[in-house]
Amino acid sequence: MTDGRALLSDEQLERNFADIAPPLTSDAALLEANKCLFCHDAPCTIACPTHIDVPAFIKKIATANLRGSARVILDANPFGHSCARACPVEVLCEGACVLNDRDEQPIKIALLQRHATDYVLARGLTLFAAGAPTGKRVAIVGAGPAGLACARDLRRQGHAVTVFEAKPQPGGLNTYGIAEYKLKADVALAEVRDILDLGVELKLGVTVGKDIPFERLVADYDAVFVGVGLGQTKALGIPGEDLPGVIDALTFIEHLKTHPYRETPVGRQVVVIGAGNTAIDAVTQAKRLGAAEATIVYRRGEGDMPCYHYEYELAKQDGCGFRFNATPLRIIDNGAGQITAVEVRTPGGTESLPCDMVIVAIGQGTRTELQWPTDNPRVFVGGDCANGGAEIVNAAAEGVAAAKGINEFLGGA
Ligand SMILES: Cc1cc2nc3c(=O)[nH]c(=O)nc-3n(C[C@H](O)[C@H](O)[C@H](O)COP(=O)(O)OP(=O)(O)OC[C@H]3O[C@@H](n4cnc5c(N)ncnc54)[C@H](O)[C@@H]3O)c2cc1C
Ligand code: SF4
Repeated sequence: MTDGRALLSDEQLERNFADIAPPLTSDAALLEANKCLFCHDAPCTIACPTHIDVPAFIKKIATANLRGSARVILDANPFGHSCARACPVEVLCEGACVLNDRDEQPIKIALLQRHATDYVLARGLTLFAAGAPTGKRVAIVGAGPAGLACARDLRRQGHAVTVFEAKPQPGGLNTYGIAEYKLKADVALAEVRDILDLGVELKLGVTVGKDIPFERLVADYDAVFVGVGLGQTKALGIPGEDLPGVIDALTFIEHLKTHPYRETPVGRQVVVIGAGNTAIDAVTQAKRLGAAEATIVYRRGEGDMPCYHYEYELAKQDGCGFRFNATPLRIIDNGAGQITAVEVRTPGGTESLPCDMVIVAIGQGTRTELQWPTDNPRVFVGGDCANGGAEIVNAAAEGVAAAKGINEFLGGA
């Protein structure tokens, strides 16, 4: 693989990965908050999986009560910081805003949410406290949004919580997977810190099922929550996919998010196989890292792409290419392990698409390495591993719902 990074200066790389939706100034936030109609039936609140009381938090911004606003948000959604940056709002709260029906721009709910939550994060304000100890102990497997949302609410209810996390850092995909221009790992970790500070015990680098048997947790704790997310990217099953210049999208993105930009290898001609949101994240980030060409190769047509429309638009704006109705048949090298092309089948026959790097993004499989009983009333589950893969806000909602269920199960109020 020839390295595309040398083309870009450090300053350019910083610019390429700067926040895609920069924060509002105080004046702009006030102006935006005052545009809200404060609808009684609040379709935005209904559309939000965590049902944040959107009119209530916006009203508090309009009256300069940013702390109170953040409390409304984070009370409903422990991941209100990251959701403000990464929620697909076009299909959630902002998509439901009544202003859309008047052919006006919807209220910038996510940016207002960010305005309020950034305020408390930047000042280190503590909004919630642990409840009086109940003497009950809960184990949580996975420190992603689902597990930690569950942990936060269990601590507020007074239960002792121990979280087991396989990775060296908590946060799940918030820390390791969300596109760098939406959410940076340091913000994700600061958000997590707020939750851990409620007195959550965190055991990092512990893979349940390998380092400690799941049955041990069931025996030692009053309840167990499983929030382990999804597994590895699925394999293509074509010749050449083990060549050195072939990488799966999650590994590529994780490297980018955990190293200085210049240290993540990227080709000059990158092909990304797949057309979901992860594929779009991979192709835009490859381009932003300095690839001269970054192209999505998808076996179906443009209208079949599973990614969100606005993600597709972003990739086009970034100058990424798209090849539709092209099914990868094999990855070709020069005989010395250097990738030279992807051979695809198109309606017109076979074609070789020149490239020196291939990123595979055809979806993640389920986690097969950890089995948990589905019929044990003390075992609860939520997030991607339960819903098949959705958004941060769904994982947070399911973690919160599970905490409620566990609390009831443990006899809490
Ligand atoms: C590339 C990519 C981009 C995305 N972009 C967005 C976006 O822009 N906006 C959005 O809202 N959502 C996005 N998502 C989806 C979002 O990241 C997930 O829905 C969310 O992180 C799910 O949370 P979770 O807690 O269920 O799982 P995860 O975040 O995957 O967390 C699971 C945790 O469990 C740990 N774990 C797994 N097995 C074990 C074990 N045996 N023992 C101990 N720990 C274990 C893992 O290491 C991980 O930390 C994206 C997903 C991907 C893959
Ligand atoms: S959490 Fe997401 S969907 Fe819910 S109100 Fe905030 S930005 Fe909208």
